[in-house]
Amino acid sequence: MSKIIVITGGGRGIGAATAYAAAKRGYAVCVNYVRDRAAADVVVDVIQDRGGMAVAVAADVASEDDVVRLFETVDEKLGPVTALVNNAGILGRQMRLDGMLAARLNRIFAVNVTGAFLCAREAVRRMSTQYGGQGGAIVNVSSSAARLGAPGEYVDYAASKGAIDSMTIGLAKEVASEGIRVNAVRPGIIYTDIHASGGEPARVDRVKEAVPMKRGGQAEEVANAIMWLLSDEASYSTGAFIDVSGGR
Ligand code: NAP
Repeated sequence: MSKIIVITGGGRGIGAATAYAAAKRGYAVCVNYVRDRAAADVVVDVIQDRGGMAVAVAADVASEDDVVRLFETVDEKLGPVTALVNNAGILGRQMRLDGMLAARLNRIFAVNVTGAFLCAREAVRRMSTQYGGQGGAIVNVSSSAARLGAPGEYVDYAASKGAIDSMTIGLAKEVASEGIRVNAVRPGIIYTDIHASGGEPARVDRVKEAVPMKRGGQAEEVANAIMWLLSDEASYSTGAFIDVSGGR
């Protein structure tokens, strides 16, 4: 069976590192992005230069129409998906909950929660033996924030990741007998662009003293955990979490 992976937000950060890791392991890769086409094209070009197969597909995971079109494009260009990494995620500017407006909350939950649900839905419809599929694996990218709460910074983001943890547990049980495993990684503080969107580009270096290992993580370290959960080596693991957070 050919291995076909969809990585949401695969153009930058943890998603890009996962795209490279997946291509190295023989997956045909769909690199989804929402705005930064140039970054997604670089990932695709590098994978193709190394002899792999990859396509970049624009889609806002918060849009149901976009997500349906994303998976139909993958059907056409690569084949039915066998692995999904629900990686796309956003933060708002750092602030206390008492300053948060509904528009911000709705966007955070639309991308981080609804987006992951919609992509999981499309993947299950293709992977599940109930739909005539051959099974597959889903990895959700949660966050240590789901456990820590992110006080004073983004409690909304932390709560959206809490929802992802609950979805991981519930969906894992729902589809366990249909050939699909559903697991999650919870990264700690990782060197990517996401911290700049929260208003503090150097956040990792400020917070790293609170990490038992006294350093931030690299996107590749998260990608390695994702790839293990997707692999046959994790064949008896579902509804499980790997913290990739330096002990925090
Ligand atoms: P990043 O560097 O900011 O990259 C985010 C990626 O998500 C980009 O490729 C972006 O696309 C894509 N994206 C954003 N909104 C989207 C949407 N509506 N539809 C489709 N794609 C969308 O972030 P990152 O740090 O790698 O984070 C990846 C995941 O890890 C997120 O779920 C994040 O919450 C989680 N995480 C990160 C950390 C950390 O410290 N970095 C810690 C814990 C968890 P464009 O390139 O087109 O903008």
